[in-house]
Amino acid sequence: MATDVAPLVVSDIHKRFGEHEVLKGISMEAQKGDVISLIGSSGSGKSTFLRCINLLEVPTSGDIQVHGENISFKTDKRGERIPANNRQVEQMRARLSMVFQGFNLWSHMTVLENIIEAPVNVLGISKAEAMDRAKEHLERVGLYDRKDYYPAHMSGGQQQRAAIARALAMNPEVMLFDEPTSALDPELVGEVLKVMRGLAEEGRTMIVVTHEMAFARDVSNHVVYLHDGVIEEQGNPKDVFENPSSERMKQFLSPKY
Ligand code: ADP
Ligand code: MG
Repeated sequence: MATDVAPLVVSDIHKRFGEHEVLKGISMEAQKGDVISLIGSSGSGKSTFLRCINLLEVPTSGDIQVHGENISFKTDKRGERIPANNRQVEQMRARLSMVFQGFNLWSHMTVLENIIEAPVNVLGISKAEAMDRAKEHLERVGLYDRKDYYPAHMSGGQQQRAAIARALAMNPEVMLFDEPTSALDPELVGEVLKVMRGLAEEGRTMIVVTHEMAFARDVSNHVVYLHDGVIEEQGNPKDVFENPSSERMKQFLSPKY
């Protein structure tokens, strides 16, 4: 019997921007070692959902439980829902780390400086120890020889691998990826997917928004297809890809040209 507490449980997340309800009740649970691929057309709400998970956006309603602890919310003076406890948000963010489409490395810092920044400033690890650990993560993504480079002097694939090393440096319980390869030239996609596949094989818990259907099919153990802010279909990759029950999912998967 698995007795591990689930790293992440989200329940009935709604997100509204003004009149536009972008997420219409999304629930999802990640157990330790799950690799969940989140797929769907542009505008279906994938990024908004990931951003709600780590509170870059505050869900209009719904619950988020990280490592068994419910995030608490309150209503501010303007009637908007906000997190009740900043310390709790900081702690939960340290458990979930996000890799963005556009890498988001600090441009004025070297790769190594980028990687040790949060461990030193958020986790309070000594600089010496953070550098020691960073070495390991850089080797992990095949970038140790680039540690003193500035992001601008590296390829997109290298920058994204550096961003993955930076996420790893927080020793997160769940890694969130928002289309990590979609800003890359096609020939650089493979090196990033290879690192991600390695992380999955190590048993990392990951939620990956992706258009890479081969990755979703071969690497993840659960696929969620989002359409217009609702989960239209989900299941194990084999069922979902080989035998989708929803017409929309079939359409989505069919070749476009
Ligand atoms: P996806 O990542 O699946 O392409 P998004 O989550 O980025 O979709 O966007 C879903 C919808 O939410 C889109 O219609 C988008 O315009 C809208 N949206 C996203 N962020 C905001 C925002 N900050 N303010 C207003 N609308 C937004
Ligand atoms: Mg998106």
